[in-house]
Amino acid sequence: MQKSAIQEKPHPIDVDMLIVGAGITGLYQLYCARQAGFRAIVVEAGDGIGGTWFWNRYPEARFDSESYTYAYLFSKELFEDWRWTEHFAGQPEIERYLNHVADRFELRQHVRFGAKVTSAVFDEETGTYTVKTSDGSTHITRYLVAATGVLSVPFFPAVPGRDDFIGESYHTGLWPFAPVDFKGKRVAVVGTGSSGIQVIPAIADEVASLTVYQRSPNWCTPLNNRPITIEEQEELRANYQAIKQKLDTSISGFLHEPNDRASTDDNKHERVAFFEKLWASPGFSKMTANYTDFFTNPDLRKEFSEFLAGKIRSIIKDPATADKLIPKDHTYAQKRPPYATGFYEAFNKPNVSLVSLDETPMLRVTQTGIETAAGLEEFDIIVWATGFDFARALHSMGIRGRNGVALEEAWKDGPSTFLGIQAAGFPNLFFPGGPHGAAANNPRYNGDQIDFIMELLRHMREHGYTVVEPTQDAEDEWSNMINSLATYTPFSPEHSYFFGSNIPGKPRKFLLNPAGRGMLFQVMAKSRESKFNTFAMSTVTAAAVSA
Ligand SMILES: Cc1cc2nc3c(=O)[nH]c(=O)nc-3n(C[C@H](O)[C@H](O)[C@H](O)COP(=O)(O)OP(=O)(O)OC[C@H]3O[C@@H](n4cnc5c(N)ncnc54)[C@H](O)[C@@H]3O)c2cc1C
Repeated sequence: MQKSAIQEKPHPIDVDMLIVGAGITGLYQLYCARQAGFRAIVVEAGDGIGGTWFWNRYPEARFDSESYTYAYLFSKELFEDWRWTEHFAGQPEIERYLNHVADRFELRQHVRFGAKVTSAVFDEETGTYTVKTSDGSTHITRYLVAATGVLSVPFFPAVPGRDDFIGESYHTGLWPFAPVDFKGKRVAVVGTGSSGIQVIPAIADEVASLTVYQRSPNWCTPLNNRPITIEEQEELRANYQAIKQKLDTSISGFLHEPNDRASTDDNKHERVAFFEKLWASPGFSKMTANYTDFFTNPDLRKEFSEFLAGKIRSIIKDPATADKLIPKDHTYAQKRPPYATGFYEAFNKPNVSLVSLDETPMLRVTQTGIETAAGLEEFDIIVWATGFDFARALHSMGIRGRNGVALEEAWKDGPSTFLGIQAAGFPNLFFPGGPHGAAANNPRYNGDQIDFIMELLRHMREHGYTVVEPTQDAEDEWSNMINSLATYTPFSPEHSYFFGSNIPGKPRKFLLNPAGRGMLFQVMAKSRESKFNTFAMSTVTAAAVSA
């Protein structure tokens, strides 16, 4: 009866689903929603498809997930037709891939570019959101999906005078379209995290001088990238089903074979031999294929870190520089480790130098350069490789839920979610790929969340429901699980941006799901079996519609 009231007097929704963000998550959400018959559009602040891979076009920006494990798996034909050239593709190739997907599945015409969401207010009477964007548009949507990413708001440290600099200045996460000419320039790179370690070796040969400013060192290990051979291409094509099956179920979302040995199964000599194998292995396998007790045994991580310190000392000729690049305040995996090619080697070039900001604090940026406690150094270009404010985009969209409560206010002490997809008090809002999300290969986990959202929405459609939010109990249980297990992750609240530790004043709350994909699968299955009784569903009443 309630449902037919809606049909008699429709309220002015112009889409069933408005998705914010045209990254890998938003595109998949758009594809699924349209496949299921929902009128769905994407609004995107940027001028192109790709999200992370649209904004981060700095030299050597690339995957540290294997290309074919990051790519979409929903279409066998897409998987078979697209030929990745490298095991870890670079930004231009990834951006081409995502654009190819947008065209191949006719998604692009449903994306509005240059439209940043500035407010999204829930109307209890109609069960819809009124969404305003920076291009002056207003949309009324039944469902709002924020696919706004966790690494999409660049962070700049509060250094006085940053805007005074009259040379060229770039953040790696806001890189311009036109290639930056580094040739013969005096360049500063601030930051030695995941982006800094990629850009430093990429430009070291062509610049006149490169000064690297480091706040805190990271355990950088080799990416061990290489081209995909023709035989490997054929193997990938032939094994789509098996690869999909493995990636759909693996806890990490990678293809790496987990180790079946604990560190205690090997003696010291055998462990070193094994660490050598890991050093030569691709990307994240240093974590995912490490000993079975790697995440629970701090002594093992210490031993592995000592092995890595030895590697760093053996690569870098100047012992003082090597020492500055070796982390002393955390062991491997207490922070998200970066992977790169030739990072440590770059410091052997005569034109590359390192400034440790612990020893020599940065005082200010001037019109011509950077002034530290050691004096002023002049530059033509400053590159800010200073990372992101994790999951900030969702907070800053101006979302208001029931009773006009702002999401930003509700989460001032940290996020509270169910499954990292919804929050009580914010009906019909979903945020796959947001806080409490993947501690794994991103698209795999985000894809699981979207598949679940679609199941839920189909269930609602079949039963005539139009409004959904998690029960407070379900949300509390999930969020308490996150907060209590966070203490058992190797990640450190003092050092890891997964706790927001890189942002002054940000609450130190774990922002991922420490129990990982296994727990996500379990709780989703339970919810599904109970016909989604972890959610409160309702239908907009006739009175509300006509109001
Ligand atoms: C350099 C780099 C390398 C990475 N490499 C890997 C990797 O190898 N493996 C891995 O698993 N993860 C990696 N990541 C993490 C990466 O962010 C995710 O893999 C993935 O891109 C997330 O996709 P997404 O669609 O959820 O978000 P994003 O790709 O971040 O896209 C979000 C989009 O939302 C838009 N947006 C945000 N707010 C608004 C608003 N208010 N209005 C309109 N639009 C908005 C943004 O403009 C952006 O385009 C990397 C991140 C970076 C920065």
